[in-house]
Amino acid sequence: MAEKGVAGVWRKIRAIYNIQGNQCKTCGNYYFPPRLVCPTCRRKGQLEIHKFKGLGKIYSFAIVRQAPDHFKRQMPYVIAQVELDEGPRLTAQIVNVDVDKVEIGMRVRACFRKISEQGHEGIIVYGYKFEPTMEVTGHD
Ligand SMILES: [Zn+2]
Repeated sequence: MAEKGVAGVWRKIRAIYNIQGNQCKTCGNYYFPPRLVCPTCRRKGQLEIHKFKGLGKIYSFAIVRQAPDHFKRQMPYVIAQVELDEGPRLTAQIVNVDVDKVEIGMRVRACFRKISEQGHEGIIVYGYKFEPTMEVTGHD
Protein backbone atom coordinates (compact mmCIF):
# COMPACT_ATOMS: atom_id res chain seq x y z
CA MET A 1 0.00 0.00 0.00
CA ALA A 2 1.30 3.43 -0.92
CA GLU A 3 -0.30 5.34 1.94
CA LYS A 4 2.04 7.68 3.73
CA GLY A 5 2.00 9.95 6.72
CA VAL A 6 0.04 10.11 9.93
CA ALA A 7 -3.37 9.75 8.31
CA GLY A 8 -2.31 6.53 6.61
CA VAL A 9 -0.86 5.14 9.84
CA TRP A 10 -4.05 5.86 11.75
CA ARG A 11 -6.15 4.36 9.01
CA LYS A 12 -4.10 1.18 9.34
CA ILE A 13 -4.35 1.18 13.13
CA ARG A 14 -8.12 1.59 12.92
CA ALA A 15 -8.30 -1.21 10.37
CA ILE A 16 -6.41 -3.57 12.66
CA TYR A 17 -8.07 -2.55 15.90
CA ASN A 18 -11.56 -2.97 14.53
CA ILE A 19 -10.74 -5.74 12.07
CA GLN A 20 -12.04 -3.34 9.51
CA GLY A 21 -11.86 -4.33 5.89
CA ASN A 22 -14.20 -3.87 3.03
CA GLN A 23 -16.81 -5.54 0.92
CA CYS A 24 -17.29 -5.19 -2.80
CA LYS A 25 -20.92 -4.38 -3.50
CA THR A 26 -20.54 -5.64 -7.06
CA CYS A 27 -19.40 -9.21 -6.37
CA GLY A 28 -20.08 -9.48 -2.63
CA ASN A 29 -16.55 -10.52 -1.65
CA TYR A 30 -15.08 -9.38 1.66
CA TYR A 31 -11.48 -8.28 2.06
CA PHE A 32 -9.10 -8.02 4.96
CA PRO A 33 -6.92 -6.07 5.04
CA PRO A 34 -9.01 -3.58 3.06
CA ARG A 35 -8.25 -3.30 -0.65
CA LEU A 36 -8.15 -0.16 -2.70
CA VAL A 37 -9.51 -2.03 -5.73
CA CYS A 38 -11.58 -5.22 -5.86
CA PRO A 39 -9.23 -7.81 -7.42
CA THR A 40 -12.21 -9.57 -9.02
CA CYS A 41 -14.16 -6.63 -10.44
CA ARG A 42 -11.36 -4.09 -10.88
CA ARG A 43 -12.90 -0.86 -12.09
CA LYS A 44 -16.46 -2.14 -11.80
CA GLY A 45 -16.00 -2.92 -8.13
CA GLN A 46 -17.63 -0.76 -5.48
CA LEU A 47 -15.83 -1.12 -2.17
CA GLU A 48 -17.46 -0.22 1.10
CA ILE A 49 -15.97 -0.33 4.58
CA HIS A 50 -16.95 -3.42 6.50
CA LYS A 51 -16.32 -4.03 10.17
CA PHE A 52 -15.93 -7.74 10.71
CA LYS A 53 -17.71 -9.37 13.61
CA GLY A 54 -14.45 -10.97 14.68
CA LEU A 55 -15.95 -14.45 14.69
CA GLY A 56 -14.53 -17.33 12.75
CA LYS A 57 -12.86 -20.69 12.93
CA ILE A 58 -9.36 -22.07 12.88
CA TYR A 59 -8.41 -22.97 9.32
CA SER A 60 -4.90 -24.20 10.09
CA PHE A 61 -2.48 -23.74 12.96
CA ALA A 62 1.01 -24.30 14.29
CA ILE A 63 2.20 -24.68 17.85
CA VAL A 64 5.29 -22.55 18.41
CA ARG A 65 7.77 -23.99 20.86
CA GLN A 66 10.81 -21.94 19.83
CA ALA A 67 10.75 -18.15 19.86
CA PRO A 68 12.91 -15.09 20.43
CA ASP A 69 13.65 -14.27 24.08
CA HIS A 70 10.98 -11.61 24.49
CA PHE A 71 8.25 -14.12 23.59
CA LYS A 72 9.60 -16.98 25.70
CA ARG A 73 7.33 -16.47 28.69
CA GLN A 74 4.33 -17.09 26.45
CA MET A 75 5.58 -20.40 25.07
CA PRO A 76 4.33 -22.66 23.79
CA TYR A 77 1.79 -20.65 21.84
CA VAL A 78 -0.48 -21.16 18.88
CA ILE A 79 -0.37 -19.22 15.64
CA ALA A 80 -3.36 -19.90 13.43
CA GLN A 81 -4.88 -18.93 10.16
CA VAL A 82 -8.34 -17.86 11.18
CA GLU A 83 -11.11 -17.91 8.61
CA LEU A 84 -13.58 -15.17 9.43
CA ASP A 85 -17.25 -16.04 9.00
CA GLU A 86 -17.39 -13.51 6.17
CA GLY A 87 -14.63 -15.40 4.32
CA PRO A 88 -11.23 -13.65 4.60
CA ARG A 89 -8.41 -15.41 6.41
CA LEU A 90 -5.89 -13.77 8.67
CA THR A 91 -3.01 -14.92 10.82
CA ALA A 92 -3.21 -14.43 14.56
CA GLN A 93 -2.17 -15.86 17.88
CA ILE A 94 -4.74 -17.97 19.71
CA VAL A 95 -4.87 -17.19 23.42
CA ASN A 96 -6.72 -18.47 26.50
CA VAL A 97 -6.46 -22.01 25.25
CA ASP A 98 -4.66 -25.22 26.14
CA VAL A 99 -2.33 -25.59 23.13
CA ASP A 100 -2.95 -29.34 23.02
CA LYS A 101 -6.73 -28.82 22.65
CA VAL A 102 -6.54 -26.57 19.60
CA GLU A 103 -8.05 -28.15 16.51
CA ILE A 104 -9.00 -27.24 12.99
CA GLY A 105 -12.53 -25.91 12.85
CA MET A 106 -12.50 -24.62 16.44
CA ARG A 107 -14.69 -21.50 16.84
CA VAL A 108 -12.78 -18.40 17.82
CA ARG A 109 -13.45 -14.72 18.34
CA ALA A 110 -11.18 -11.69 18.25
CA CYS A 111 -9.90 -10.13 21.43
CA PHE A 112 -7.50 -7.23 21.61
CA ARG A 113 -4.17 -7.55 23.35
CA LYS A 114 -0.98 -5.66 23.67
CA ILE A 115 1.38 -7.45 21.31
CA SER A 116 4.64 -5.60 21.90
CA GLU A 117 6.24 -2.34 22.85
CA GLN A 118 8.46 -1.15 20.07
CA GLY A 119 11.41 1.16 19.78
CA HIS A 120 12.87 3.75 22.06
CA GLU A 121 9.68 5.80 21.99
CA GLY A 122 7.87 2.94 23.67
CA ILE A 123 4.99 2.83 21.24
CA ILE A 124 2.61 0.18 22.43
CA VAL A 125 1.33 -1.94 19.63
CA TYR A 126 -2.13 -3.40 20.03
CA GLY A 127 -3.52 -5.96 17.73
CA TYR A 128 -5.98 -8.73 17.49
CA LYS A 129 -5.56 -12.13 18.94
CA PHE A 130 -8.24 -14.78 18.99
CA GLU A 131 -9.66 -16.95 21.75
CA PRO A 132 -11.99 -19.94 21.72
CA THR A 133 -15.71 -19.13 21.83
CA MET A 134 -19.01 -20.95 21.68
CA GLU A 135 -20.53 -18.00 19.79
CA VAL A 136 -22.01 -18.77 16.43
CA THR A 137 -22.58 -16.10 13.87
CA GLY A 138 -25.79 -14.71 12.47
CA HIS A 139 -24.07 -14.36 9.13
CA ASP A 140 -25.23 -16.52 6.23
ZN1 LIG B 1 -15.88 -7.17 -6.67
